Amino acid sequence: MSTATVAANPTLTNASTTPAVKVTIARGDGIGPEIMDATLRVLCAAGAALDMEEIQIGEQVYLKGNSAGIGTEAWESLRRTKLLLKAPITTPQGGGVKSINVTMRKVLGLYANVRPCVSYHPFVHTKHPIMDVVIVRENEEDLYAGIEHQQTDEVIQCLKLISRPGTEKIIRYAFEYARTYGRKKVTCFTKDNIMKMTDGLFHKVFDEVGAEYPEIKKEHYIVDIGAARLANTPEKFDVIVMPNLYGDILSDVAAEITGSVGLAGSANIGGDFAMFEAIHGSAPDIAGKDIANPSGLLLAAVQMLVHIGQTHTAEKIHNAWLRTIEDGVHTTDVYATGTSKEKVGTSAFADAVIARLGLMPATLPAVRYESGKGNLKIQIAPTVQAKKELVGIDVFLHHADRNADALAAQLTDLNIAGLHLNMITNRGTSVWPNGFPETFCTDHWRCRFKTDGLTGISYQAAVDLLQKIHLRGLNIIKTENLYLINGKPSFTAGQGQ
Ligand code: NAD
Repeated sequence: MSTATVAANPTLTNASTTPAVKVTIARGDGIGPEIMDATLRVLCAAGAALDMEEIQIGEQVYLKGNSAGIGTEAWESLRRTKLLLKAPITTPQGGGVKSINVTMRKVLGLYANVRPCVSYHPFVHTKHPIMDVVIVRENEEDLYAGIEHQQTDEVIQCLKLISRPGTEKIIRYAFEYARTYGRKKVTCFTKDNIMKMTDGLFHKVFDEVGAEYPEIKKEHYIVDIGAARLANTPEKFDVIVMPNLYGDILSDVAAEITGSVGLAGSANIGGDFAMFEAIHGSAPDIAGKDIANPSGLLLAAVQMLVHIGQTHTAEKIHNAWLRTIEDGVHTTDVYATGTSKEKVGTSAFADAVIARLGLMPATLPAVRYESGKGNLKIQIAPTVQAKKELVGIDVFLHHADRNADALAAQLTDLNIAGLHLNMITNRGTSVWPNGFPETFCTDHWRCRFKTDGLTGISYQAAVDLLQKIHLRGLNIIKTENLYLINGKPSFTAGQGQ
C-alpha cells in the first residue's frame, strides 16, 4: 500500500487551514488508471486537502485467485478512512466471481447511489437541452442480493428481496436530498402492478414517507412508462428514486442522453462509509489510448469534496470544469463539429480544467455548494413486530412429467391438520384446479397447501406434510411458509387463480 499526500496549494484554496481528510484511492481497471490520474491532478492543483492511501482491487486481484477481487489490506484501508474514490473495475462475466462493486456497496452498507445527470446544452450535443435529473438508486437489495439457485433441470431462480428498513432509508434519503438541495419534486418508479408485494412495499413507503415532506411534489410511475418518459421528456423530472435494478439501468440511460455516459459521477452513501465513482464501467475498448473522458470520475470527486465539507474546493473544480466544457475543449465521446472547438485526450482535458481553476462559467449556471449540507444523516423507524400466523405452505417440486392433473392426483388425498392442496402453479400460472391446456409447463411446480379459513397450524404439521410428500417419491426442492401477518394474507395468489 502506498501513501501519498496531495499537496495543498495555498494560492488556490484555504487548504492550508483545512485538515487533510484520509481517503482510499483505487485506480481500477481498463480506463481507470488514466481517468484517476487526470482526476487526482485536478484535485491536487485545486488544493484539495486529502491524505491518500492507495489500494489494489479488481482484475489483478481476481487473476491472483481472490474471487472477491479485494484483499485484507484493502479492507483495512477502507475501515481506516471510511472514504473511497474508486475508478471503474472490470467484472469478469459469469463464473464464480462476484462483482466487487456490488460487494463493496453491500458490505459497507452504502445504501444510496446518487447520480446527477445534467445537460450542458448548447456546449454538449444532446437531444434534451433542458435536463437536470438526480437519480437516487437503492443500492443494497432487490435482485442484487445475488441469491440464485438452479432448482430443476429447467429452472433457475434469483431472489428479489425488498426490506422495509432498506426501502425507508433510500426513500428518506431521496426526500432529504430534495429538501437540502432545494429540489421541487421526487418521483418514484416501481413495477407494483406486477410485483405487488416487493415493489408494492417500495411504493407504499414512498407514499408514507413522502407525506412528511408536504413542500415537495410527489409522483409515481410504473417503471416502463416512467423509463419511456425519462428518455423522451427528461425535463419533466427532478429527483427520481428507484429500486436497485431499475436505477442501475435508468441512470445509464439518463447519463447517456445528456451527451455521454462519460459525463456522470455518482456517490454511494452509507451510515459511516462513502464511495465515489463514475457511473460508467472500465471501457476496455478504449483503455490505454488516452481518449477516455475523465469527467465522470472528476465530478464524483467533486461530490466527495462536498460530502467531506471541502465545498470551496468542490465549487472551484466544478466551475472550472463547466468553463472547460463551455470553451469547447472536449474529449472524443462528446466532441461534435459545430459545438466543440478542440478535441483533447484524457490528460490534456485535465490540463484544460487545471488552467481554468478560479474561472467561472460564462453561460452555464455556476455551481454553489453550501458547507455543512453534504453529509445527510438518515433516521428510520424501528421495526414493529407483527402477529404472524402460519396458515399453509408452498411446496416446490422438481417433476419432469408435464401433467398437472396427474401430479395433483398424487397430492389431493393428503390432509394434515386441515392442510390440503389448494392450487398448483407452474412458473406462477395456475394449472390446477383451473388450468388451460395451452399453458406451457416446465419441470418446476408450486403446490400450495392451505388450511380452509384463517386457522393457524404448527410448523410440525407442515413438516409432517413434507414427510408424506417425500415418502411418495416426489422431489421437494424448496418450501415457502404462508403467513397471515396481523390477520392479513402475506402471499400472492397464482396468476389465473
Ligand atoms: P462501459 O461503461 O465500460 O462502456 C460502455 C461504452 O461507453 C463503451 O463504448 C465505452 O468506450 C464508453 N465509455 C465508458 N466510459 C467512457 C468514458 N469515460 N469516456 C468515453 N467513453 C466511455 O460499460 P461495459 O462495456 O458494459 O462494461 C465494461 C466493464 O466495466 C465490465 O467488466 C463491467 O462489469 C464493468 N463495469 C464496472 C462498473 C464500476 O466499476 N462501477 C460499472 C459498470 C460496468
